[in-house]
Amino acid sequence: MSEKLNEKLGKLIEFLKANNEYYSEIFKEYGEDLRNIPFLTSQLIRLHGLAGTKKMISKNLKIGYIFSTGGTTGKPKFICYTFDEFEIVVDLLCQCYQFVEENDIVANLFMAGNMWASFIFVNKVLQKRNCSILPISGTTNIELIKNYIEFFKPNCIVGIPTQIMQVISKDYYFLKKVLFAGELFTQNQLKFLYDMSCLVRSAGYASVDADVIGYQCIELKINQHHVFTEHQIVELIDLESDESIAEEDRVGQIVVTNLDRFLNPVIRYKTGDLGRWVKTNCKCNKPTIELLGRFDDWIRLASYDFYYQDFANVFYPLNIALKINRNESKVTVLIEKTSEELSIDYDEMIEKLKRENWQLREGIEEKLIKVEFEFVSSLPKTNKKINVIYE
Ligand SMILES: [Zn+2]
Repeated sequence: MSEKLNEKLGKLIEFLKANNEYYSEIFKEYGEDLRNIPFLTSQLIRLHGLAGTKKMISKNLKIGYIFSTGGTTGKPKFICYTFDEFEIVVDLLCQCYQFVEENDIVANLFMAGNMWASFIFVNKVLQKRNCSILPISGTTNIELIKNYIEFFKPNCIVGIPTQIMQVISKDYYFLKKVLFAGELFTQNQLKFLYDMSCLVRSAGYASVDADVIGYQCIELKINQHHVFTEHQIVELIDLESDESIAEEDRVGQIVVTNLDRFLNPVIRYKTGDLGRWVKTNCKCNKPTIELLGRFDDWIRLASYDFYYQDFANVFYPLNIALKINRNESKVTVLIEKTSEELSIDYDEMIEKLKRENWQLREGIEEKLIKVEFEFVSSLPKTNKKINVIYE
């Protein structure tokens, strides 16, 4: 870590020792070496953040914004920012939105309302990019969104991939740029956009809890991001042992420490995202992380690693979930029946899967992983879609 970063971290720790009940206890118990600090999880934020004991919220700072974080896992979770902290994030996001130019007409399809952060952040960022803004929001009904788009003909859409794919039509000849965040596009969705001659770029790697972590330059692959090293300390930890990973190409969970968040600190936060360090050819001279999906979507079977996303890519546009049987080393692909008559060529799908991930190929060819298909009338759900179920 550079001296400047060390100094920044030191300042944060000093502040928290004096003003934060939760972290003053943590530093007393574990010392101040970051490597010894226990990981922060969503559950801990829920327990000691604004929705819980509030021990994690620093004294002597005024709360600016309170945001809810998704609400995808049952109980709500809240996170707060001072206005200064909010502005720091906006400035960094401006760099993520470098592909938005003054002459652009931009449809903001991030989700507004419900105490969500993304729309509010992004709208502020777009304003700073000095483009023309259509503040539509993905919460508006789809027909209405399409009406706005067809009427104003924006050349740029920003939003979540699922949302964008729902409204986009190949007749939108005026559309030239798509900036996305929150999840990854599948290969097929990307092909659709590239066929329309759209520039597709990530609008940054961020989470509401940890705020912005990385940005994408023009050279990087669609799932790669340079780390904002002056803002976040990013660690990669082994999926089973939690040990730190420094080498390239080994998959781990992304853990971040935000150096600018004093009010609702984010120290060694387990993001739930999978990634690996990669080398790049660009001139940015920053560490680069490649995103590989969600921790929950990672599957290790018969010592082979693969992801829900591998299957989702192959089966797109069908809706699927995976059922894993460890005893039999078996993956059952649950395919949602649609109104159309479904027939799937088993051998062709297996071939595609083998091309998608070499570990799957080896597992299937060595007969150590079995893959079966099953049609179901509806996929397993709680209050969100479940991608992977274990038997
Ligand atoms: Zn670069």
